[in-house]
Amino acid sequence: MAFAIHCLDCDFDLKATTTGRCPECGRGFDPASPRTFASRPRRGHSVRGLLSAIVLAAVAFGLLRWSWEWPYGDSHHAAFRTIFGIGAALGVIAALLAARNRSWFGRIPLLLVGTLCAWAGLFFASEKYFRVWQSSPDPPDEAFADTGPIGALLAGWIPGGLFVGVVFAAALLVLAWRRRGRTESVSAPASSDAPTHPPTTPPSR
Ligand SMILES: [Zn+2]
Repeated sequence: MAFAIHCLDCDFDLKATTTGRCPECGRGFDPASPRTFASRPRRGHSVRGLLSAIVLAAVAFGLLRWSWEWPYGDSHHAAFRTIFGIGAALGVIAALLAARNRSWFGRIPLLLVGTLCAWAGLFFASEKYFRVWQSSPDPPDEAFADTGPIGALLAGWIPGGLFVGVVFAAALLVLAWRRRGRTESVSAPASSDAPTHPPTTPPSR
């Protein structure tokens, strides 16, 4: 695999750059510190994001199906927690992968799949909650007041999307903050007034 080195801001190929500064946008980088540059171009991030989204959707389908068929006995709370937890966890994973991805062509499929996971988790969790409750011995009347699942089905994408969006934004901020810290430490010596070449004339005695 060819070693690639690309600018974190503008994606410029820095392979031939020796100054430690992107010739296109001026961002500092350190070839010895992988956090200060991207090891693959944005194109690679698009493909990777799309593939991750497909894999995640398949994993979500399997896990939600498994948690739907799991025998919960009489515990409708356990049913809700398990299915909802799986949807939320997959939403977090999708949001974190999207934040690490540098291309919006990779990010958007991940964010959509993440929202779908959280939404499906909410809907199937509330649906199973009432089913388990209703099939328990001597269910109370509230067990049949099951409008929650319909609400989750119709409007669940709103909290699902908000949840995934907030995790994504928080992860982006953390990543930007960490990258900025590294870039500042890289650019500090370059921006100082220290001479880059030794004096050509010997100092006078
Ligand atoms: Zn650049």
